[in-house]
Amino acid sequence: MEIIRTPVEMSGWANKVLAAGQTIGLVPTMGFFHEGHLSLMRKAREKADRTVVSLFVNPIQFGANEDLGRYPRDFSRDSQLAETEGVDVLFAPEARDMYPSEACTRVIVSGLTDGLCGASRPGHFAGVTTVVAKLFHIIKPYCAVFGRKDFQQLAVITRMVADLDWDVEIVGHPIVREADGLAMSSRNTYLSASERQSALCLFRAIAHARRRVREGLVEAEVLLQEVEWLLLQESVTIEYVSFVDQATLRPQAVLRKGAVLAMAIKVGATRLIDNDNLFEEH
Ligand code: AMP
Repeated sequence: MEIIRTPVEMSGWANKVLAAGQTIGLVPTMGFFHEGHLSLMRKAREKADRTVVSLFVNPIQFGANEDLGRYPRDFSRDSQLAETEGVDVLFAPEARDMYPSEACTRVIVSGLTDGLCGASRPGHFAGVTTVVAKLFHIIKPYCAVFGRKDFQQLAVITRMVADLDWDVEIVGHPIVREADGLAMSSRNTYLSASERQSALCLFRAIAHARRRVREGLVEAEVLLQEVEWLLLQESVTIEYVSFVDQATLRPQAVLRKGAVLAMAIKVGATRLIDNDNLFEEH
């Protein structure tokens, strides 16, 4: 596996691969790999000839009071894991090379970024779409794989690619969970043992919502109250609980196909998100 540090070298590598008639699958990440990231890498390997994983803790997607400074990092472990997965290139640029001081362009997707995580993290999605647009230009992938764990991000990027006529296939990958249901996340490392127990309320809420929908409940408002009650049995604070359409992210008052239960909570100082497509088999 090659480790590439600069956009210019990365672009040169991609140009050679494309000239040889091969395709590139991209997995954008912020590192500190877990099984969720690794399953995205496997998916990219299935879909394209060569696999590039980007590892970049993107400063412009963090708010001033967020965890940029303490975001978990372990480059040598990450590069070993990526190599074991058969990744061809780990692209790990420096912030100064991605955002030279004179840079002043942002890619903004409007509307879809107003609610859910966009409401509590102003500027976050502009940071995400800007870095993903740059990665697409540098790496020129045939497909890019994103986790449904960040399902708003997936919807926003899918929209960006359609709106800009970008010839990149956006592939959504199911959420990978721990054995007890906690969605894997680099940020789980912040949780104490008791906070980790409290965080399981997210999965309990999903299991409850799936059961109620199977029983025929369709009023979002009723289920919303039940889910909030369940979450608040633990010492967590709710940022949002919402039932939205998976593509438009518009709230659904009457639950139907495409309904996603989306949640963000704080457990101690740690912000966690989770979601579930309630009508999908899994
Ligand atoms: P991150 O490093 O947290 O920015 O995540 C990089 C990619 O991995 C994003 O597309 C995430 O949605 C995806 N991802 C993170 N956690 C999971 C998970 N538990 N299951 C599936 N995909 C995930």
